[in-house]
Amino acid sequence: MLGQVGKTYLIAEGEAGVYLVDQHAAYERVLLENLSAALRGRSEQQLLLEPLVLDVPPAAVALAEEASPELSQLGFAIEPFGPRQVLVRGVPGALVDRQPQRVLQDTLVTLATNTHGLVIEQHASWAERLAIVLACKSAVRAGDTLELAEMEALLRRLGEAMLCRTCAHGRPTAILLSHAQLEREFGRR
Ligand SMILES: [Zn+2]
Repeated sequence: MLGQVGKTYLIAEGEAGVYLVDQHAAYERVLLENLSAALRGRSEQQLLLEPLVLDVPPAAVALAEEASPELSQLGFAIEPFGPRQVLVRGVPGALVDRQPQRVLQDTLVTLATNTHGLVIEQHASWAERLAIVLACKSAVRAGDTLELAEMEALLRRLGEAMLCRTCAHGRPTAILLSHAQLEREFGRR
């Protein structure tokens, strides 16, 4: 791990060369892996001491009801609470540190209004849609300052093999400057 550029990109060295990593896209990818694991039956739920009421538009309440089995598979424990509110009793363990209530609110609203701006396949299930949007909304953003330890943990969890996939925005997660490319650019061969 070499550092952060413009509070947006991480620079890291791997076996294949030097990586420039989009911190949001990378974080999103790690969370998506966790949420996908939850959907395969390995969800961890953290119950809230006090249930929390979210204010959302009626379309988002309808969505929460329709996607209720998938939301509970992901680790959310929620109930409809009137025409414009949802009651949250539990949140996924993977999102506990990422303001999960705000993220859920945001996710329901952008999915209900189709304003998430993400590339989601037409035939994607509710579970897949939810996981993709939740991961995006929970991830660190461009402009967030990260501690060195946070950056290292992020890249470790992602692993070199997963770095160069595209993210849910259809953008690359990372750019690799290979050893051969560096040698070429610097006229070393
Ligand atoms: Zn995103």
